[in-house]
Amino acid sequence: MLFEEEIKNELRVLKEKNLYRVLRKVEFLSPVRIKIEEKELISFCSNNYLGLTHHPEVISAGITALKLWGTGGEASRLISGNHILYENLEKKLAEFKETETALVFPTGYSTNIGVISALAGVFSSVSKKGKAGIFCDKLAHASIIDACLLSRANFFRFKHNDPEDLRSLLKKHTDLFPKIIITEGVFSMDGDIAPLKELLEIAEEFDALLFVDDAHATGVIGKNGKGSLSFFNLKWNPRIIQMGTLSKALASLGGFVCTSEILKKYFINKCRSLIFTTALPPSVLAVSLKALEILAKDESLVLKLQKNVNLIKKLLKEEEFEVHDYPTAIIPLIVGDAEKALSLSEKLFEKGFLVPAVRPPAVPEGKARLRITVSSAHTEEEIEAFVKALKNCF
Ligand code: PMP
Repeated sequence: MLFEEEIKNELRVLKEKNLYRVLRKVEFLSPVRIKIEEKELISFCSNNYLGLTHHPEVISAGITALKLWGTGGEASRLISGNHILYENLEKKLAEFKETETALVFPTGYSTNIGVISALAGVFSSVSKKGKAGIFCDKLAHASIIDACLLSRANFFRFKHNDPEDLRSLLKKHTDLFPKIIITEGVFSMDGDIAPLKELLEIAEEFDALLFVDDAHATGVIGKNGKGSLSFFNLKWNPRIIQMGTLSKALASLGGFVCTSEILKKYFINKCRSLIFTTALPPSVLAVSLKALEILAKDESLVLKLQKNVNLIKKLLKEEEFEVHDYPTAIIPLIVGDAEKALSLSEKLFEKGFLVPAVRPPAVPEGKARLRITVSSAHTEEEIEAFVKALKNCF
């Protein structure tokens, strides 16, 4: 069959370029210990930034909900899936992020897809078709890019973390409406932080919306891990739409958007990735809620994460690795070539550490890297042993 031949060819090309991917069977033994093919490793690649996946209170909240309400989400939230826990979780998320309200989706990916498409207005009469303009940072996450393409809005990408480039694009396209500026708070592959103050000023100047993906900022930066707005001491206003995910620091599954009451009503009516999909199971909502309660009332986990971030960066610098100066839990070591990145990742695997080689298309061509992520659950000894092993791989 011709189609199958074409697919084989495609896979062969990926292998030749060291861009072929496989799924490996794993078992999570603890927040940072992972078992792969009978080998136990220390993971430096999880987004489980606060180690809450194995917190006894979080686990017991999930078990209780399972026993009370069963296993499934039943139906779309708009049919019969809007479990009472959704309301509690959304209230708590809005309080935590200091916004008017919040709306939970099945994943972070589907949050971006639904919200960005709805903002661009293609499914409504808010924007005359073809008139919306999205202005997105060049290094934004794939889920954002997919959402921008799906939205069918006019789509422009500004140079990474470059407000002046954004400004010059906006000056050229004043006729578009609505204008939506999109960035990540903490960038998922580089670990740097967006210049939110400048981006917000520009949003005000051009009467644009500012959409901030805080997937890797929530639970990591700002007071109590409130995220990137808090990091810059910026107060929320209805121009700012913050999304986040429950699947990283919050140790569960789901995505959310924090916004105004009016936009929440609009999203409930227009986000196809909320309307046409099954609700999350109550046990998942209960886990998210408990993790969020722990984060909101106790800063110690975020402080421990910060301590670990400072320690690993200090040790890496002592070994003359180039690391950024941002207080985030994502530390890329850029090696350039995909083959080199893969070989380093394999050597670390042999030494008992799991760190992924991140290759195109997840990062630009020539920017393959080891992407190290740190958790509050790592011990000092684990971090020291990791940096020592890493040094021996070069
Ligand atoms: N945004 C960013 C920046 C991400 O890194 C991710 C996940 N890697 C998502 C959105 C999607 O979140 P989820 O995994 O909850 O679908």
